[in-house]
Amino acid sequence: MSQPDTKFGDYGGQYVPEALMPAIEELTDAYRRYVLNNEDGFMDEFRERLADFGGRPTPLQRADQLSARYDTEVYLKREDLLHGGAHKLNNALGQVLLAKYMGKERIIAETGAGQHGTATAMAAAHLDMPCEIYMGRRDINRQRPNVFRMRLNGAAVTPVDVGRGTLKEAISETMRDWATTVETTHYVIGSIVGPAPFPAMVRDFHAVISEEIESQTAEKLDRSPGSVVACAGGGSNTMGAFAEFLDDDVELYAVEAGGSSLTVDEEAGVAPHSASLSTGEEGVLHGARTKLLQDGHGQIMESHSVSSGLDYAGVGPQLSHLVDEGRVTPVTVDDDDALEAFHRLSQDEGIIPALETAHAFGFLEAALGPDGDGSVEFAEPIVVNVSGRGDKDLEAAIEETEKRDLENAPEMEVFDQ
Ligand SMILES: *Cc1c(COP(=O)(O)O)cnc(C)c1O
Repeated sequence: MSQPDTKFGDYGGQYVPEALMPAIEELTDAYRRYVLNNEDGFMDEFRERLADFGGRPTPLQRADQLSARYDTEVYLKREDLLHGGAHKLNNALGQVLLAKYMGKERIIAETGAGQHGTATAMAAAHLDMPCEIYMGRRDINRQRPNVFRMRLNGAAVTPVDVGRGTLKEAISETMRDWATTVETTHYVIGSIVGPAPFPAMVRDFHAVISEEIESQTAEKLDRSPGSVVACAGGGSNTMGAFAEFLDDDVELYAVEAGGSSLTVDEEAGVAPHSASLSTGEEGVLHGARTKLLQDGHGQIMESHSVSSGLDYAGVGPQLSHLVDEGRVTPVTVDDDDALEAFHRLSQDEGIIPALETAHAFGFLEAALGPDGDGSVEFAEPIVVNVSGRGDKDLEAAIEETEKRDLENAPEMEVFDQ
């Protein structure tokens, strides 16, 4: 019988209050039985629903213009074409289905910008499970379309008024709910973070991305990818795109948000970036030991990125370990370069990427573009994971583009009536 990964080197673990241990143990047991050992045909049903409801497999597409621009073979793994417009459904569907197999009657989740909440609400509606999403009051006011999407799918969206009213507080509130409702409720965590077994389990639900990349490159190109590039917030689309290749001769690049600068303001406890793999130090956040943005006293710093999905002070423990081992190379792309890449991919390939995803393309441009530093020699072909589409980011993209003088931005002028 396969056993769950709980530690990745020194990282990972289960740093949770005693009240949550029964839930964690029950979930570990269910993960082992249903996911790792396919009891009751769980994984078969999961794959079938990913195909019929989610639209898998997503295509692997050659990027003709980028391949010409960089004089190298570039392929796109189109997770933006998954139902919901991002990779997030893989995990949300997997966990809600698992909750059903466990006999749970209720789903809870937290969300920051609303992407994970939306995916969870969709999966819960699909599987006919009641769903409650905790969201900071401030985020609710900033993300009205996503709040409406969740409510359309029948989820209750509960405002969290504690603290700054953002993701961190929403996570604490969801943990509190879970500790008192463990018997009936499953908490769907949105990335490869949190206490074991979440990091390994969420990775396994997203591993379908790299399984497909492997079979698609074999079929189309008769070989494996040379390099895989993905953006990393918590790191779930990254680990999903890397999982099958960890033991192979494939270069793996995790692109983090360099924000407006990599220089932190220790006094104010603010990091103007979210590059925890590249600059973070070991600590404990949300139940796991991992690389974190923290000050000299171990206080978690506020992070920043132009893309809300990358704006997180921690990162998955397995990615931290793979970086320490030298297996995954972390790189950073700042807000400006991500925004330029957002415009370039839209114009050159007819694909408007999520701002998170744009960071991965910013890395290619920085390394291989006309003004690139040529510092990275990629093994070909390069596969970039297009983690999501940019429709959700249009408001932010307009605002951020107006602030900057970007050569490749479209005409932004609006005429007075
Ligand atoms: C949420 C999100 C991310 C970041 O989450 P990971 O867990 O790091 O994958 C990246 N891209 C898109 C499109 C997202 O919605």
